[in-house]
Amino acid sequence: MKRLFDIDPWEIKTTSLDKMNKRLQESITSIGNGYMGMRGNFEEGYSGDTHIGTYLAGVWYPDKTRVGWWKIGYPEYFGKVINATNFIPIAIYVNDEKVDLAVDAVKEFNLSLNMQEGILRRSYVWSKENTEIRFSFKRYVSIVQKELAVIEVKTEILKGSATVKFDSYLDGDVENEDSNYEEKFWIERQRDSNEKSYLTTDTIENPFGTEQFTVTTMMQNLAEGNSHRETRNQHMLVGETIAFELGEGEQALITKLVTVVTSRDIAAEQQVQEASNLLDAAVLKGTEQLEAEHKAAWKERWSKADVKIEGDDESQQGVRFNIFQLFSTYYGNDSRLNIGPKGFTGEKYGGATYWDTEAFILPMYLSTSDKEVTEQLLDYRYNQLEGAYHNARQQGLKGALYPMVTFNGIESHNEWEITFEEIHRNGTIAYAIYNYTNYTGDDSYLQQKGIEVLVGISRFWADRVHFSKRKNSYMIHGVTGPNEYENNINNNWYTNKMATWTLRYTIESLANASPVKKEELEISEEELAQWQDIIERMYYPYDEELGVFVQHDTFLDKDLQTVDSLSPDERPINQNWSWDKILRSPFIKQADVLQGLYYLNHEFSIEEKERNFDFYEPMTVHESSLSPAIHAILAAELGKEEKAVEFYARTARLDLDNYNNDTEDGLHITSMSGGWLAIVQGFAGMRTANEELAFKPFCPPNWSSYSFLVKYRGRLLEVQVTKSVVTVQLKEGEPLEIRLYDKKERLEDAVSTSVK
Ligand code: BGC
Repeated sequence: MKRLFDIDPWEIKTTSLDKMNKRLQESITSIGNGYMGMRGNFEEGYSGDTHIGTYLAGVWYPDKTRVGWWKIGYPEYFGKVINATNFIPIAIYVNDEKVDLAVDAVKEFNLSLNMQEGILRRSYVWSKENTEIRFSFKRYVSIVQKELAVIEVKTEILKGSATVKFDSYLDGDVENEDSNYEEKFWIERQRDSNEKSYLTTDTIENPFGTEQFTVTTMMQNLAEGNSHRETRNQHMLVGETIAFELGEGEQALITKLVTVVTSRDIAAEQQVQEASNLLDAAVLKGTEQLEAEHKAAWKERWSKADVKIEGDDESQQGVRFNIFQLFSTYYGNDSRLNIGPKGFTGEKYGGATYWDTEAFILPMYLSTSDKEVTEQLLDYRYNQLEGAYHNARQQGLKGALYPMVTFNGIESHNEWEITFEEIHRNGTIAYAIYNYTNYTGDDSYLQQKGIEVLVGISRFWADRVHFSKRKNSYMIHGVTGPNEYENNINNNWYTNKMATWTLRYTIESLANASPVKKEELEISEEELAQWQDIIERMYYPYDEELGVFVQHDTFLDKDLQTVDSLSPDERPINQNWSWDKILRSPFIKQADVLQGLYYLNHEFSIEEKERNFDFYEPMTVHESSLSPAIHAILAAELGKEEKAVEFYARTARLDLDNYNNDTEDGLHITSMSGGWLAIVQGFAGMRTANEELAFKPFCPPNWSSYSFLVKYRGRLLEVQVTKSVVTVQLKEGEPLEIRLYDKKERLEDAVSTSVK
């Protein structure tokens, strides 16, 4: 655990520049607006260890896969979100000497990300001989005008006098730290430097026939005070220097406005004009108005989604940080986009779409945003159904296999055990359709589009299973379950379960499908009978003596040990042990059997859940950020309140406290819903099965109260939980029946009951 920032309910702030943990600091102070974003890099540059990263949603490159021995079915490329033109630089020279915090000693350092306003600020006092200057920086990417970023540098001479020169530029000569062949992914198309300077770059050609992108970045500096300006123009770099002669007590202010347009929305030939129009409109509006609108938009987002925790500022900061970063990554504005594991904060994992979205993010958006947002996420998969059929064909299989990693529907990961073996993700794509339909009570998506996805996935499962004559059962061999610390295992309980669950849900959904749809899908009685047979004769590993669902066929033959047998210097095991040792060990990376108990929660008794939780949790190392939230929810359901709180802290403060020792690579965006899930589905016990909205809340011991908002079937509800009383208030919409603990209540205005 490493905590760089102070505890504060709304701010992520510190007064120290931690040079040893610069990358970690950069990850945590990343900002974004769903369209673009960047790490918390310094405008003036930094010659020490740093990871410069600016990313544009949906702009990616297929990087040729690197493998020793090529095998049939391998993806040809690893899809990557690529580092785009770095537009934040404003290098500073005082009397020709470059300001560089890696070298210069500064005082009164302040760094603060204000989550309520969506603004990053930084300031310090720089001094040399008889000169002392305060520099203050402010930066945001507008959530009102998605193409716009605003960067401001204020200079105040505290002592002496100086020539202060600012070098404000756009730098297209960027690279990806994770490129497979150390290639640069951009080439210059055109540039000009003037009052408005711009740089247009194209992604390099690729041999795989995937889309190439063109991006134009344009800037204009607004400067107050007497200055001398000169333009800069060289290959892949355009900009302007602005020099001021400043005496003691004098100030200078530079505001750099940047617009970014991409070929995802605007054809290459029209980009310069469009970027210019957007820039003019921003200048016309004025920086005050731009900032006021941006802040107001963040306020509006918070008014629908804030979670308030009284009595524990660490937890409060954690959950707000998560919501802030998630909303900075995705706010449902574009069905061609999805949520990458690192969002705009790093390159690891390629930044593409994983099963994470459906498994961990979708449930939060279902409750905190309009249903159209979730529909966009479902449409994303629907529109990629062709790609899923392609992926199955690549493996010599029928039906649709959704990718583990993708931008366009085609599998684009390059790790065998993840790409091919983690077929369980297909079940999650199906489950998301159920989740949406069950939560909203609206089956029109299911009937019109979802059913096509379900049939495709079911056809995949029906072909991927095999029949064991010896056991007279269907089986699924050669998979990796959600626990990636075991590969090529047979009969992963979770995978087998999700396969038959999908088949059953598809059959049920088809029973209500229109005859036209059924005909279109060419469903035959034989096919349905085959699916039914698989449902009835699927093999699930189970141990009578322990009374647990067994993770896979040979799991119980391992040298079973609990995590407390590991010494602290062995953890995390993925950074200290050989892969061979990890694979043979009993240690579980993330919820596996328990993931199934979470999804299909209402199908299992409390005793079953308890036996499995008590068996698996002690062997789980939670080395995936996706793990603690699921454990928090189950622990809460089982009345293990202390454990639930412990897991909550891990998920909500995972990055702020760098629990997994890897946040310097970027934030764990797809586990950012974890804190919210742990509170709402965990502490408040919200369930929505069987057409019923139910709560079973408790208040964590160190909190005095908490409250949150949920949208449900056209209503907006506020749930408030204190140590003694639960109140559910209907804030918008028609009355409805809810269940509070074991009692049905009619909610017309508000209902209260004592905490049980
Ligand atoms: C997890 C996967 C997840 C991926 C991307 C891995 O560490 O084990 O379940 O899909 O990260 O977040």
